[in-house]
Amino acid sequence: MQGGKGLGLNIFVHVFGCRSSLCEGEYIAGALASIGASITETLTDSLNAAVIVTCSVTQEAERKCRQLVRRVRRSLGSDGVLAVCGCWSQGLDSESARGLGIDILAGSRGKSLVPEAVMRMLKTGRSFIDLRTQDIFAQSEWEELSIESPVMHSRAFMKIQDGCNHFCSYCIIPYMRGRPVSRPRENILAEIRRLIANGCREVVFTGIHLGIYGQDRSDSLAGLIREVSRIEGLERLRLGSLEPFCLSDDLLEALSECSAFCPHLHLPLQSGDDGVLSSMRRGYSSGDFVRACENARNFLGEDLHISSDILVGFPGESDEAFRNTLDVMRRAGLGRVHVFPYSQRRGTTAANMPGQIPHEVKISRTSLAISLGRELYDSYVRRFVGCEVEILIEAGNKGHTRHYVEALCEGVSNEIVKAKVIGVSDGRFECLRRS
Ligand code: SF4
Repeated sequence: MQGGKGLGLNIFVHVFGCRSSLCEGEYIAGALASIGASITETLTDSLNAAVIVTCSVTQEAERKCRQLVRRVRRSLGSDGVLAVCGCWSQGLDSESARGLGIDILAGSRGKSLVPEAVMRMLKTGRSFIDLRTQDIFAQSEWEELSIESPVMHSRAFMKIQDGCNHFCSYCIIPYMRGRPVSRPRENILAEIRRLIANGCREVVFTGIHLGIYGQDRSDSLAGLIREVSRIEGLERLRLGSLEPFCLSDDLLEALSECSAFCPHLHLPLQSGDDGVLSSMRRGYSSGDFVRACENARNFLGEDLHISSDILVGFPGESDEAFRNTLDVMRRAGLGRVHVFPYSQRRGTTAANMPGQIPHEVKISRTSLAISLGRELYDSYVRRFVGCEVEILIEAGNKGHTRHYVEALCEGVSNEIVKAKVIGVSDGRFECLRRS
């Protein structure tokens, strides 16, 4: 249980989805804690309220959101206030929301209103309110969500961009998150300074389409990184997922000059087959992807960790197309890989494409891609055995190195330690502390 004292209110906060959702959950938890509530991530019978930040990236994600909403409603009993926000709730009709026992319904935008709405309803009693913007595409303003220090995680996830206009043919997110908007640079810099003053050692920039940060306000990610580099006291800076076509030389140069930048990039490949990439409308070819990885290593060093996402079983994906994906995973020298079987999302172009792949084929390809991913990651992490690494301890003698490899090492939460890698087990470093 974390947060403020005094009100005697226990509030459950749970986040589904990407790092931007995590950041939004942090904001909500932080705002509730700052007005005196205790935040818990454990479902108990003594809760006064609950906030669930939802995700709709796959059908499975939506099923889990619905399932948790039902469970939480039962735990809260008849008096507890239930607020639900995020991508899944953006598309939920209010009749279904009432049926599920949701009291406060917010969407992708409007999360800044959630903490206050929860506190108000705890005083006045339960009733249904819908805080959503009906036309998400009409929203062109940045919704400011700022945090003083992370409540739910040891690193601070900072959302600096929202929305997407790329419309990959399989993706529902642009319809849920609306058009791209960027956080004003001065707000980002001020928040980083506040976080450092509060003892935060690592900041992670996140966004739905992070690479286009600033395009709506004559700014750029490279320009922002250059300014962040000049902030004293920032020890670690990470970037969330970047679309491969956003990896310009200017951005790579800015990253290479930023001493706080941790050498890890997450570049979603999705497929290594040019036909599939074109039907996905990703905006790059397999050759472009491999070249982008090589170029990134030229700027950021051979040991740069490049992790990725693979979408398996996209409509029309032949055996050969799938083999091309495995081949590009190898050629690009990927590290950690997350593999997702393609999930048909109603409202997207790909949902109606011919050549939908049978479930069993998707499952067998998924397991092949996972096992290649494990092999690649294992070979990436083994290069560090015998080397000294720097670890930010998160909890329970566990932390991450600058290259974003999980490590086991003696230390206390939020401490940065130097350690020697003495072995690898299950993709994790076993380390001996040096300082
Ligand atoms: S870039 Fe593509 S995958 Fe990423 S949010 Fe936009 S549409 Fe979805």
